[in-house]
Amino acid sequence: MSIMNHPNRHNDKDMRRRSGRGTMRQRTQHMEHRLWVRYGKGVLPYVKKYAVKRVKDTLPVPTECRYCGAAVSLTTHQVVFGGSYGPWPYVYQCDACHARIGLHPETHLPLGTLANKPLRMARSEGKAHFLKVISRFGMSRDDAYRWLSIQMDIPLRECHFAWFDLKQCAHAESVCREALERTASAQHCATRELNRCRQLLTCSAHQ
Ligand SMILES: [Zn+2]
Repeated sequence: MSIMNHPNRHNDKDMRRRSGRGTMRQRTQHMEHRLWVRYGKGVLPYVKKYAVKRVKDTLPVPTECRYCGAAVSLTTHQVVFGGSYGPWPYVYQCDACHARIGLHPETHLPLGTLANKPLRMARSEGKAHFLKVISRFGMSRDDAYRWLSIQMDIPLRECHFAWFDLKQCAHAESVCREALERTASAQHCATRELNRCRQLLTCSAHQ
């Protein structure tokens, strides 16, 4: 008789039913459902527990607008923009002044703090310069954020453009601009390895 259908072999399904814990899949679905009921308010189709866990630096779900104090609702890109953009087209938006912030994919977690139009523009401008630094120096994202947090003298966990206020956006942008200009003016230097970010950005000759 094969071990697989031996009468003394424990039946996994029965064991799980008896233990009352359910299968991993059932437990995951239960958790997702709980999160959906709690945060989705009928808007999010689902929330993935692994996706929530993957977000290292989190902020609380906004309930009150930091500009005008009005209530914040979870809504969709379709409602706000008239179309869907990206894989997770949901947004937290102030009911009164329409300051808003997107969500981490497959989660209920906000990407950062609510932003009005000037702040949204400043964030995207700052991020554009930061991406240029990444591509110019061939940095990894982790290294780049570490570098930026040191330059801005803020904790790494707070170094996210979606978390920045206007002043921090301007600071980040100027730091990135300076790094890019320094590279341009340092191109003549043949005695140093100029291709690697960490060497160039910390090179005393080009500070
Ligand atoms: Zn508001």
